[in-house]
Amino acid sequence: QDVKKVDLHDGIDSTLILLNSTMGRIEVEKHFGEIPMVECLAGKINQVFMNIISNAIQALNEQGSSNARPAITISTETVDERISIKIADNGPGMPDHVKERVFEPFFTTKAVGKGTGLGLSIVYKIIENHQGTLEVFSGEGEGTTFVITLPIYQKTPRNE
Ligand code: ADP
Ligand code: MG
Repeated sequence: QDVKKVDLHDGIDSTLILLNSTMGRIEVEKHFGEIPMVECLAGKINQVFMNIISNAIQALNEQGSSNARPAITISTETVDERISIKIADNGPGMPDHVKERVFEPFFTTKAVGKGTGLGLSIVYKIIENHQGTLEVFSGEGEGTTFVITLPIYQKTPRNE
């Protein structure tokens, strides 16, 4: 995989198109701000969007009809010399004991065969290799928000 200058909004949009058939009643709201192109491993960064957004879709779909307006909100902005990407859902959220472990390899709350528990540990590694940061905010009944930041000016990301 090569390091390329990419438009992250394109990556988010393509991911949403790929996931469209699994969305059901979920509404997607985009608040795309002014962000520059960024040097990154495009395929890996798309994998980040794919993993986080599919988790949000699964969490929202699991709630079924109890959520009147299931929604995913994706916001981007430039803050100082970093790009910030927030992916939020208004799903069930997580209790603290789950939230604390989501980035651990093989940690999953999903039924056998439904989740490997690898998605977010891979996401964490990819963001780390891009000198980025990844945080999760969540509470039971309060939805979940993942916040990614990536430096605008970065050293070559590690490809592994
Ligand atoms: P998997 O999806 O295979 O379970 P992940 O690493 O992608 O593995 O996620 C780990 C766990 O984090 C999930 O099993 C789930 O408990 C929790 N999780 C991740 N994203 C969300 C979300 N948007 N809402 C609620 N729980 C989530
Ligand atoms: Mg997952």
